[in-house]
Amino acid sequence: MNEAVDWRRDLGSSFRVALVQAGTFRSDAGAIFGPVPRLLWDRLVTDELDDQHRLLQALNCLLIETPAGRVLVETGIGDRIDEKGRSMRRYEGPWVVPALEQAGFEPGSVDVVAMSHLHFDHAGGLLAADGSRAFPRARIVAQRAEWEIALGSNPRLVASYVQPELELVRDWGAAGWAEGERELLPGVSVVPTGGHSAGHQAIVVRAPGAAPLAFLGDLAMRPWSANPRWVSAFDDFPLDSVVVKGSLFAEAADEGWTIVLSHEARHPIGRLVRDRDRYRYEAD
Ligand SMILES: [Zn+2]
Repeated sequence: MNEAVDWRRDLGSSFRVALVQAGTFRSDAGAIFGPVPRLLWDRLVTDELDDQHRLLQALNCLLIETPAGRVLVETGIGDRIDEKGRSMRRYEGPWVVPALEQAGFEPGSVDVVAMSHLHFDHAGGLLAADGSRAFPRARIVAQRAEWEIALGSNPRLVASYVQPELELVRDWGAAGWAEGERELLPGVSVVPTGGHSAGHQAIVVRAPGAAPLAFLGDLAMRPWSANPRWVSAFDDFPLDSVVVKGSLFAEAADEGWTIVLSHEARHPIGRLVRDRDRYRYEAD
């Protein structure tokens, strides 16, 4: 993506966070808005729809530097998707490795790769095109429940995963999987949420003395995700999403968390603000 947002923040105490956009793809607008009537969302996206009625979805990743090491959050679609898939999804790079390099980070310096979940657009960048590990030194962390669903047999649930690719990294994943909340490095934790997928997790950075910064995965993919009732048709457990968004967003709003949206191209950094019985996203 040529117009990738360049955003970095120093949280103090040697914690720094950088946004790394690993390309963009297109997703059906109706599916993204799920149960929400078109009348309510149409005007929010008029300048974004393409000729196939699809929205522009950025592949937002975060590089978190801490005194104890580096954590990469998400890996995007990656470089192993075939031409057919690329054009079908209108996927445009750079994938996560060159995107990281352009931002000044060596993939070999990443200690932990944390993924909110294992859908194709979050776990696709673990391997390079030649099949080698894109982050040779890293431990990779997703929830055990997520691995089990991703490699399971429920046809509705597995449709969003690329099982042959995940099979290739299964052992690597199993060595680092989390069961429940876990601190990856001091100050960086994963918190299971479910909802969007069975083992979906949020990643929260708590640098000493700074307000928390959170990547809530696809529970907060775009600004309109701030309404807990607005869940996408890609949410496997939508009622769980509504409940967990309600409680997470309350915490985020009341404690002034910085939020990084997972698929927002232009204004991915902001905060959640209480608004009647829901929340509103305000970009920084
Ligand atoms: Zn996604």
